[in-house]
Amino acid sequence: MTVSSSADFTRNASPYLYGPEAAAVARVLESGQYGHTRVTEDFEQRVAAYLGVPEAVAVSSGTAALHTALLAAGVRPGDEVIVPSMTFCATVQAVLVVGATPRFVDVDPATLCVTDQLVRRAVTGATRAVVPVLFGGRPVDLSPVQGELADRGIAVIEDAAHAFGSLTGTRPVGATGNLTCFSFGPIKNLTCGQGGMVIPRTAEEADTIRRIRLLGITQSQATRANTTTYGVAGFGLRYQLSGINAAIGLAQLDHFDTTKRTRRRLWRRYRDALAPLDDVTLIDVGIEQAVPHLCQVRVPHRDQVFAELRDQGIGVGVHYPPNHLQPAFAAWRRPLPASEQAGAEILSLPFHQHLTEQDIDHVAVTLGRALNTVGAASCASC
Ligand SMILES: *Cc1c(COP(=O)(O)O)cnc(C)c1O
Repeated sequence: MTVSSSADFTRNASPYLYGPEAAAVARVLESGQYGHTRVTEDFEQRVAAYLGVPEAVAVSSGTAALHTALLAAGVRPGDEVIVPSMTFCATVQAVLVVGATPRFVDVDPATLCVTDQLVRRAVTGATRAVVPVLFGGRPVDLSPVQGELADRGIAVIEDAAHAFGSLTGTRPVGATGNLTCFSFGPIKNLTCGQGGMVIPRTAEEADTIRRIRLLGITQSQATRANTTTYGVAGFGLRYQLSGINAAIGLAQLDHFDTTKRTRRRLWRRYRDALAPLDDVTLIDVGIEQAVPHLCQVRVPHRDQVFAELRDQGIGVGVHYPPNHLQPAFAAWRRPLPASEQAGAEILSLPFHQHLTEQDIDHVAVTLGRALNTVGAASCASC
C-alpha cells in the first residue's frame, strides 16, 4: 500500500496510507456501528492529546468545522468576517452560509498569508470575526492585534485546513487559544477520507458545536435508546464524523511523526533543487515550524509554464484562483493587488508523500527547461 509508482510526479496531490487504515475500517464495519460512535470519540481524544488541548470536536469536513466555529463564535447575519481572498473557496462559503459578509483582505506576497497590519486596517465597526488561513501549513501570528481584536469582541477563527501538526511559536496550531478548524479531507496532511475538527476555546463552545453537528439533539445515543422521545434543543445539521472515517484518522495519527518528517524533507529538497533557478520564487511556508501542505512557486508567464509542464506529464496546480475574482463572490470584490498578482504567478508543484527525491529533482529540471522554452518563445515575439 505504500508502494510508490514510477511516475508519482504526475499527481499534484495524493493521500498517503501507511497500511493499517484498511484493517481499522474493516473493524468498524464488522462492529455494525457506522455513525458517531466510540471510535469518533477516541479520535477526538487522541487529537486533543496530540495538540495538548482540553477538547477537540470532530465534524464531517473542514467546511463543517468552519461553519460550526463561526456559529459558536456568535457570528450572525449582517456581521462582517475578515477573510483573505487567497484561500480555498470553502472558507468564503462558510462565512456566507451563516449570513455574514466576507470582507476580503490582501496577503503578504512572500507567504500568501494575512498579517496583523493587513487585518488591523480591515477592521470596521461591523467586524465580528477574522479567519486567518494558514496557507500551505504556515502559522499566522496575529498576536500584535490580538488584544485589540479581543477588546472589540472580534473572534479569531484559524482556518488550519493546511496546517495540522504545524507550530505557532512553540505551541501546536490549535493550542494557541484561538478557535481552530482542521480539515482531514483526502489530500490534507492527515486524512480521514473526509473529516474535520474544531478546537473550541471554551466548554460552552464545545457543547454548541456538539449539539449542532447532531441535528440539535441533546440526548446521547444511549439515552435515546431507552426513551420514547428525544430532545431537540436548537439549530442543527448532520455534521458528525462517522466512526468509519475516524478509524482512518486514528491510524494516520499513529504515523503522523513520519508524515511530518517526510513532508519537511521533501519540501527542503524542493527548496535546494529550485535554488539555481533565477526566475523561480518559492512561497515561504516557514519550514522550521510548518508541516508543509503545498510547495508553491511564482514564475513568469505562469499560464504557459503551466501548460508546458502539463505537456511534460508534471502534475502542476494553482492554489488558488483569488476568491474576490470569483463570480459567486463578485458582490464583495475590492482591489487586492498582492492577491491579484499572486493569482497570475503562483504554481503548485507536485507535493505528496509518494514523491521520491529523484521525482523532485526531475520536476525542478523540467521546470527549468520549461522556463527557458517559454522565455525564448516570448522573447521572439517581443
Ligand atoms: C480543504 C480546505 C478547506 C475545507 O475542508 P474540507 O474538509 O474540504 O471541507 C477549507 N479551507 C482550506 C484552506 C482548505 O484547503
